[in-house]
Amino acid sequence: MTTTYKIAVIAGDGIGPEVIDQGIKVLHKVAELDGSFQFDFTHFPWGCEYYAETGHMMAEDGIEQLKQFDAIYLGAVGFPGVPDHISLWDLLLIIRKSFDQYVNIRPVKLLKGAHCPLANVNREDVDMLFIRENTEGEYSGAGDWLYKGQENEVVLQNAVFSRKGTERIIRYAFETAKKQGRSLTSISKANALNYSMVFWDQVFEEVSAEYPEVETASYLVDAAAMLMITDPKRFEVVVTSNLFGDILTDIGAALAGGIGLAAGANVNPEREFPSMFEPVHGSAPDIAGKGIGNPLASVWSASQMLDYLGHDNYGKLVIDAIEDLLMENTTLTPDMKGTASTSEVGDRLVRIITETM
Ligand code: ATP
Ligand code: MG
Repeated sequence: MTTTYKIAVIAGDGIGPEVIDQGIKVLHKVAELDGSFQFDFTHFPWGCEYYAETGHMMAEDGIEQLKQFDAIYLGAVGFPGVPDHISLWDLLLIIRKSFDQYVNIRPVKLLKGAHCPLANVNREDVDMLFIRENTEGEYSGAGDWLYKGQENEVVLQNAVFSRKGTERIIRYAFETAKKQGRSLTSISKANALNYSMVFWDQVFEEVSAEYPEVETASYLVDAAAMLMITDPKRFEVVVTSNLFGDILTDIGAALAGGIGLAAGANVNPEREFPSMFEPVHGSAPDIAGKGIGNPLASVWSASQMLDYLGHDNYGKLVIDAIEDLLMENTTLTPDMKGTASTSEVGDRLVRIITETM
């Protein structure tokens, strides 16, 4: 019996379609070599071009359409001229919220052959797993604009930390740390954010009592930003809020070899709705259409999809293939000082996978 995974593909704008194609190649190859499962990809033409034609980033019943899939594979959305808050809110954030993808998982791991900008860092010292709250917090979208245009104009942007939302992300992080036998660090800012982060710290402490076997640490976000650079080995599994996670994982991306390698998964752990896998980078309009976008972040997120679908062995195999490719140092895109095209990198990865399986 062959299992078929139905995957919705929103390749999106700019380099999105170019890089996603390479992830699809890799997934097809892994499935073909295994033989017990296969992928059925359905492409949705949503993004900024669709917006230019229809005034919407995705079909009005888009969420309904996506619901029936096992997972979503997303490239990037964004185009110069379409404000980021539209491309973000009308597609990405709607999907994250509608499907309750409250866990954002971002590996910050320095692969063999990847370049770290810090001198004197041991490769093993940069091996973190960020677990970022993905549906509320500082990105709740709630706020107000009072006395607009007047002298006494006031703008409010509310951070929302619900008991349910805070507890479930922290519990997910403890479960992950426990499973991996690693420590868990919470990052907050209770000294300045006297409601939200005091609450966050309290919940962290409460949940921590249920996991005596997990070693914990807690840092203020400013200190954590510094320590990620000066002493990255302190961090193993890390849990933090939506905004802090957004910022710190960009530091992480820089540490682990750059934006061309940074992957992310938006997960609904209960599996009530599909989860979504995407590279962290944007549509890179400056290099779009040239066929030189680095596909490794997209391939890494495809590997996260394999983990999610229960094929961790293949998830790891894909990461090993990326490491082999980085180490042979012959087939890399220009952002990694190579001369290869996007699809040459994809083809080389497929070759490496074929040779190792
Ligand atoms: P968006 O509006 O979609 O977020 P952006 O330009 O703001 O796009 P990115 O797309 O992340 O943000 O690009 C930032 C810079 O990094 C650009 O110079 C881009 O070319 C480069 N870049 C991003 N992703 C890649 C990639 N996969 N390969 C090569 N260069 C990349
Ligand atoms: Mg951008």
